[in-house]
Formats: sequence, C-alpha cells, structure tokens
Amino acid sequence: MHSSEVSVAVIGGGVVGCAVAHALARRGVGALLLEAGPGLGLAASGANSGILHTGFDSTPGELETRLILRSAALRRKLLGELGVHVRFCGARLRPAGGRQRTAVEALAANARRNGVDAELAGDGSLRVRGEAITDPVAYVHALAEGAKLGGAKVRLDARVSGLSSAPGGGVAIRLRDGEELRARAAVNCAGLHADALARMAGEEPVRIYPRKGEFLVFRPAAGDSLDEILLPVPSSMGKGVLVFPSLDGHMIAGPTAREREDKRDWSVESDARELIEDRARAMHPALAEAELLDAYAGLRPAGRDANYVIEYSRALSGLIHVAAIRSTGLSASLAIREHVSAMLAEQGAVALGAARALPVAPPGSPPGPWWQRAARHHAEQADGGSR
Ligand SMILES: Cc1cc2nc3c(=O)[nH]c(=O)nc-3n(C[C@H](O)[C@H](O)[C@H](O)COP(=O)(O)OP(=O)(O)OC[C@H]3O[C@@H](n4cnc5c(N)ncnc54)[C@H](O)[C@@H]3O)c2cc1C
Repeated sequence: MHSSEVSVAVIGGGVVGCAVAHALARRGVGALLLEAGPGLGLAASGANSGILHTGFDSTPGELETRLILRSAALRRKLLGELGVHVRFCGARLRPAGGRQRTAVEALAANARRNGVDAELAGDGSLRVRGEAITDPVAYVHALAEGAKLGGAKVRLDARVSGLSSAPGGGVAIRLRDGEELRARAAVNCAGLHADALARMAGEEPVRIYPRKGEFLVFRPAAGDSLDEILLPVPSSMGKGVLVFPSLDGHMIAGPTAREREDKRDWSVESDARELIEDRARAMHPALAEAELLDAYAGLRPAGRDANYVIEYSRALSGLIHVAAIRSTGLSASLAIREHVSAMLAEQGAVALGAARALPVAPPGSPPGPWWQRAARHHAEQADGGSR
C-alpha cells in the first residue's frame, strides 16, 4: 500500500535537485524533494569552487555548453529574485610564453563563438568579465527555500532504496525505512549515486565515479586582496589549479583532479598541498605570505565516458535521469531545471503553469563558512564509520 502520492519526486538535494524542485514550484507543480543526508548540499554541491562560469571555454554546441550559456543569461534576474549573493568579479588568464599565448587566443575565439564577452589585452591576457563567485551552500539553500515557498516539500534523511512501476501508472518509490510513495514522475538527481538509482529502476546505467578535487583555503596577508578569479591556461592535463577570492574574504586555491573509486572518501590526501601550492603561487605570488587556514575536498560525480546524461529512463516510465553533472552543475543549474521541467511536460507527467515569481525567502544558509560544512560532515561520517 502506498502511503502518499505526489506529482513529482525529485531524488537528491544537491544543486541539481534543488534547482529542479524550484523550477517545478515556480510553474505550480507539486514537488517532493527526497534527500538521503541530514542536510542539503552536503555532497559535490557544497564542496566545489563556487564559481558561476560564463561558458567562455566550453565546447560550442554541446548540451553542457548550451545549459551553461542559458543559465548565465538567467543568472542576474533569478539569483536576484532568490536573494543569492553573487560577485561578478571576472576572471583572468595570463599566458606564460608563446605556446600559452596561442592557447589563450584560441580561448578568446571560443568565447566569441559562444557569444561570451572576453577581452584580449595587449600583454596577451584574457579577461572574462562575467565570471562570478558565490557561496554554493547558500545558493543550494536559496533554491530549496524558494521551492518550499512555492509549495514544494523537502524531506531530509529520506534515502530512496527502491524504484519500480506503480500499479496504475507512475513511479513507486521505496525509502530505506520501508515507507512507500507514489509519484506521477521522478527525477534522479542523486549525483555520485545516480547510477545506483538507475540500477534500482532495472537499468544498466552509465557508471558514475568520484573525481576528487582538493582545495586549500588561505587568509590573505595584510595589504593583499584578490579581486578576480585567476585561471590557469588549460593544457592537455586538464583545466588545472585556479586561485579565487571567496565572498567571505578568503583566497582559495585548487582543485586537484584525481580519478578515484571510493565514493565515501572525501579526505584531503597527504600530497594535496604539494600539488596545489606551487602552481597557485605562480599565478598569485602573494599567496606565499598568506596563512593556510584549511583544506577541503569534493567529489565530482563523473560519468565514465559520458557527461551531462539527462535522459528518460529506458526501463521505468516516468523516471528521468540527470546524471554525470561533473564539473559545472552550479553554473548550469538554472537551465538544467528548465530543461528537466520541459522533459517532464513533454512526457505528459505534469502540466507547467506560467512561471511566477516566488516570494524571497529569508537567508536560510547554515552558519559557518561554506567551505567547512561538507568537509566537516564527511569527516564526522568517516569518524563514525571507523569507530
Ligand atoms: C572539486 C569540484 C569543483 C567544482 N567546481 C565547480 C565550479 O566552480 N562551478 C560549477 O558550476 N561547478 C563546479 N563543480 C561541479 C558541481 O559541484 C557539480 O556539478 C554539482 O554539484 C552536481 O550537483 P548534483 O546535485 O548533481 O550532485 P550532488 O551535489 O552530489 O547531490 C546529489 C545528492 O543526492 C543525494 N542522494 C544520493 N543518493 C540518494 C538516494 N538514494 N536517495 C536520496 N538522495 C540521494 C546525495 O546525498 C546528494 O546530496 C565542482 C565540483 C567539484 C567536486
């Protein structure tokens, strides 16, 4: 027997799930967000760089790029409406040497193809004015609070453990404590565990693995302040380490990029400092005088040979996967939510009303620096597990 029925169950309370719940609430569709953990944004969405990218360097035409560009267009108005603090501080890439200069010129051409404003200076550096920083934890909470004001329900400690076809249509959802729910449709936004959910639905999913990124947090030396994001010139080794200011006056350097297997290992590894510090100082020499305060790690929900897997389930009617949102989910979230809402409407699961502005929620972000929150949570989990 099913204890309750909802229009759309959104599984996962990271930035993607909260954004989808927000979009549905804004269109008058009842959503129930189910988060396994004790809080929202305690996984990748709360342990990242907190940068809202413009898409200047993204590959033209790809779904990820289209969603970042659309999100960037929605950003000022929607985040203003949600009361999210964003600083459009801009980003700079400074080439060292001729080869890097050519790479930066190619990025400027890429930005033009994507319609993103980027200026090449006489010294060969590229300035991208629209790149911005935010507090990703506050961002996630604002989306969820907005969704709640629009009628959505949010449940914490609600781990989904089973998905199947409901008799008479829709999706039957079983929670770990045995409770059963029925939804007209469900959206799998479970990040690192999106493959486990697809498997519950009877599907052989894209494999999701953790791509670990570690960061160092510094207190700037007296007289030093960083007022823009410093991006490395990308190479065949990937995007590399960046240095950026945080809204709370710190400087953060990272991330690393390590392919890992253990989805529970959120530790900062012993050589992280070595991997980050020299590269960061090369971009911002004043870091040498700054005080190292803390370090944290995030696990990107990376798809094996796949990125931005947003599709209807092949096994379970009414289920949509939003998986492998690896490195840009914060930046693309506002458009992902529109895209998924349109898919739900297309499959006939919901009728979207006209978009309405929701009341602005009072700031509901948890206390303390955002860059400590997920790290502390995972350290406590690891301690609990080892006892
Ligand atoms: C090191 C690093 C740096 C990054 N930098 C940036 C950046 O600067 N800008 C940017 O745009 N993006 C960045 N990203 C990427 C961004 O953080 C991710 O794309 C985004 O957070 C993915 O969001 P999500 O909601 O899909 O996943 P998550 O945030 O991982 O959320 C998934 C949620 O699902 C829950 N869940 C899992 N299983 C279940 C279940 N069975 N039942 C219920 N709930 C479940 C989890 O508890 C979790 O809360 C970075 C990521 C990392 C790790």
